[in-house]
This record gives sequence, C-alpha cells and structure tokens, in this order.
Amino acid sequence: MDNNVMYDLSYGLFVITANNDGKDNGCIINTVMQVTENPNKITAVVSKENYTHEMLVKSKSFNVSVISENAGFELFKRFGFKSGKDTDKFSDYKYKKRTENGILYITEGTNSYISANITDTADLGSHTMFIADVTDAVKLNNDNSMTYGYYHKNVKPSPKKTESESGYICKICGYIYKGEYLPEDFICPLCKHGVSAFEKL
Ligand code: FE
Repeated sequence: MDNNVMYDLSYGLFVITANNDGKDNGCIINTVMQVTENPNKITAVVSKENYTHEMLVKSKSFNVSVISENAGFELFKRFGFKSGKDTDKFSDYKYKKRTENGILYITEGTNSYISANITDTADLGSHTMFIADVTDAVKLNNDNSMTYGYYHKNVKPSPKKTESESGYICKICGYIYKGEYLPEDFICPLCKHGVSAFEKL
C-alpha cells in the first residue's frame, strides 16, 4: 500500500476557533466539509490532543475560518504548532474579529468564515468528528482557498538547506529530526504527527 496516496485527497485548510469560559483558542485542521445541504451541515475532525477539542466538547459551537492562498507560514506556526494549553494564541494577534456567537475568526490569510453549532459527535479514537449545523457563512474576499497540496508546495519551509545532514523531515510541518534512526514512537514536537509523516532527508 502506498500511504502517500492519502496526500492526493484534496483537503482544504482551516482555523477552527472556539470560546469557552471567556477563553479564546483555535487550531489548524484539514477536515472540514459540507456533508448535507438541507439542512446545511458540516463536519470537522479535531485531534483529542488539541486544547480546542476540549473547548468544543464544552461549548458546542465553533467558527471555521477558511485559509486562503494568501496565508503565510506564520499563520500555521501560530495556530498549528503551538498548544493553547500553554500559550494564548490570540493575545498578541491582531487579525481577528468576534462574531455574534462570541467566537473569534481570522481576518488575514482567509477568504471566508462559517459559524456552526455542534449537534452530534463521532468518537474516532485519536480524534472526534464534530457534526454541526451551519448558523452563518460570510465571504471575506475572492482569494483562492488553500489546499493541503498548495501548502506542501508553496508554504511549508523547504528542507533543502539541511540536505547535507542525516535525519528525517516531517512532511506536514517541516520539522527536522537529526539522527540516523527515527524512534518508532516518535511524535513530531511541532505538529504532533507520528513517524508515518516523516521521510528521510
Ligand atoms: Fe510536524
């Protein structure tokens, strides 16, 4: 089986945001899709490791900001590779606005946002699938939505400068593990993906 085929699926990229007890948080996901039109329902799958997951379970509502091709790597570093458990991702971030549901969305490097209320969940082991009713959807500009493929080609830092070193690179975020052997249970410290996300330099 060629696991790289999974990268041929055309995922989008999103910042899912929640507010719980007055605290704002958000994280990057690639798993938002519209599943039914009438009623208008979307799903979003979030890792249980993410602090945002805990907030979604409690608050039962979220915003999804659709990331556009204008987003820089900074957006991914802020919302993808840090945990809201130990940092406030929004405190020094100015590209945000609050919607009627009390939740923030991202105003820079995005082209639209969707607000939704969670109606059902499916336990997927490491992740939870949140099934939600769309309560609002707002277009911000006409920029193209960023796909996962676009991110890999154009946004993720290139591994070229360190090619001389022996090690492994995380295909998701570009993190480099230095060393000849990658431990089987290694988890990327930045994006939390396992060894299947790594390739040898
Ligand atoms: Fe990574």
